[in-house]
Amino acid sequence: MTTVAGAALAEAAALLSRARSGIAFTGAGVSVESGIPHFRGEGGLWTKFDPYKVAHIDTFRRDPAQYWTYSLNHRRMDAEPNPAHRALVELERLGHLRAVVTQNTDGLHQQAGSGRVVELHGSSHEVVCLDCEARLPRDQADRMNREHCPPSCPACGGRFLKPTVVLFGEALPVAALRDAQAMAMAADVVLIVGSSLQVYPAAGIPRMAREHGAELCIVNAEPTPFDDLAAVVIHGKAGEILPQVVGQVAAL
Ligand SMILES: [Zn+2]
Repeated sequence: MTTVAGAALAEAAALLSRARSGIAFTGAGVSVESGIPHFRGEGGLWTKFDPYKVAHIDTFRRDPAQYWTYSLNHRRMDAEPNPAHRALVELERLGHLRAVVTQNTDGLHQQAGSGRVVELHGSSHEVVCLDCEARLPRDQADRMNREHCPPSCPACGGRFLKPTVVLFGEALPVAALRDAQAMAMAADVVLIVGSSLQVYPAAGIPRMAREHGAELCIVNAEPTPFDDLAAVVIHGKAGEILPQVVGQVAAL
């Protein structure tokens, strides 16, 4: 168990208990404890592979079979929400969160029971045809992939079925970004969890909220460039810290 000064936990709980239009902003640090590999930092996938090659839209367009072959052999299906995801569900139930805005693509917030989740970087549970823009569930694409790799679009026969996950070289989904910006401008508190706040434009969301008067509460393993702007900063594991904070909010 990470030792955290009780004062910081109490300050975070007090801040969140006042939230009426609060949002959570989450990143890879929330999913790591569910066994989802992170991409940046020590031991991250990006230290082993060059992201601009393996996760770039141009690479995918050149050879979608490479992605789908890898997926056939490596796709994990067993990740489960952890106590950090569940604490955010509880905070929403208590009336202090309107939504979770996430950089994660694993769907674990929805699986945990969060009511409104804005996915800034798309979803690994949905696939889009790059030719006709038809969308289909990932499970269906996986079944098709097992029969014929790579799968082709059931609507138009196109050869480029891609997870809606945003790759390098792609823009963020416009609707999600607009939703997140509107909620950021209206937010009184932003609870930032497990994000290094270094990836833009996503990190612009809490910055925009701060500029519009929101108070920031940061729970992250390492320092972030936003720590000086935040009302409360707690360095530690999300799955250990958040349940303690939300437990205190519930008791207030
Ligand atoms: Zn199509």
